Amino acid sequence: MSYQSRKTQAIINLTALKHNYQQIAALAPKSMTIAVIKANAYGHGMVEVAKAIDSIVPALAVAFIDEALKLRGAGIDSPILILEGPLDEKDLAIANENNFWLMLHNHQQLQWLTQYPHLYSEKLWLKINTGMNRLGFSADDVSQTINTLSEKQQQNLVLCSHFSSAEELENPKTQDQINTLKSIAKQYQCAFSLANSAGIINWPASHGDFNRVGIALYGSFAIPQTKVAVPLMPVMTLQSSVIAIRTVNIGDCVGYGEAWQAQRTSRIATIAIGYADGYFRNAKAGTPVWINGQVAFLAGCVSMDMITVDVTDLTDVKIADPVELWGENLAVEEIANRMGTINYEVLTRVSERVPRIYIEKKPSA
Ligand SMILES: *Cc1c(COP(=O)(O)O)cnc(C)c1O
Repeated sequence: MSYQSRKTQAIINLTALKHNYQQIAALAPKSMTIAVIKANAYGHGMVEVAKAIDSIVPALAVAFIDEALKLRGAGIDSPILILEGPLDEKDLAIANENNFWLMLHNHQQLQWLTQYPHLYSEKLWLKINTGMNRLGFSADDVSQTINTLSEKQQQNLVLCSHFSSAEELENPKTQDQINTLKSIAKQYQCAFSLANSAGIINWPASHGDFNRVGIALYGSFAIPQTKVAVPLMPVMTLQSSVIAIRTVNIGDCVGYGEAWQAQRTSRIATIAIGYADGYFRNAKAGTPVWINGQVAFLAGCVSMDMITVDVTDLTDVKIADPVELWGENLAVEEIANRMGTINYEVLTRVSERVPRIYIEKKPSA
């Protein structure tokens, strides 16, 4: 890699990634577990992640064709499921040439397909709306929809749907969605796919012919308690370093808008990461930061390129000390919570200027 002066980087542990995939796949041994790597693999680097798991997954999934073409350009061979299906008529021919599995969810897409009866995507996925009300054919439309497909397409059909609330263990909506999709799949004798990470982990009844794991692949999981203990390893550790240390007096303010005021004589360390790197500006004072094996807390506003933390109670903090923002020692779920959002958003927002460094590292037991 080219010279790197600033030590802000996202360490991506590909051993952890493969470990997580295997843990999740083992929860549903009768299902094929598709790895969802849309949005630059949730910020981890789509091509590198795909290369690491290409040979162990039955298929990969991305949101739209542009992402899938990037993978083919990088030499990735696995079938690729396109979760939003074709967004343009031309997508059908491209999918056909490139072994992409299209997920059709509206009548326009269906019409594009019927206009090209010679085009045939090896596996055709049909999305049913079971209550998310975002994408999918209504349950009442299924028979009419299937009838417009050619016989060969009907034979290779996968019926699918998506959960709205599978993180909530007590929410009856999830079981309703499972019942709806399963009864349709049974009626038409089709393969089906419903479970995302939360479904795979907490709703075994949702396991289908294919499951689709996203967030858990990256070692993160939003659920406070899960029905089964899954030893996932965090894949991304976001790191930076200390670039300044100063002492401030009682009453002194730190940073923009004087948002933090010292209640005691304090030591403030400045760290080289800010909202332009994806460290959210609305991270609250008190958000933990890991320095030298100790926890310090955010003091003052997040700037574009820097944050300031209170290291008064820490011993031996010096310039150039490494800092972890989340990862091996700080759960990204907790940090996201302090930022008023969720793990998915925090991971996908790590910006392009943060170099991703790929390593293979076994867990330190
Ligand atoms: C993103 C996505 C997934 C993966 O969801 P996770 O909660 O990250 O496991 C699965 N299915 C569809 C349709 C998706 O869009």
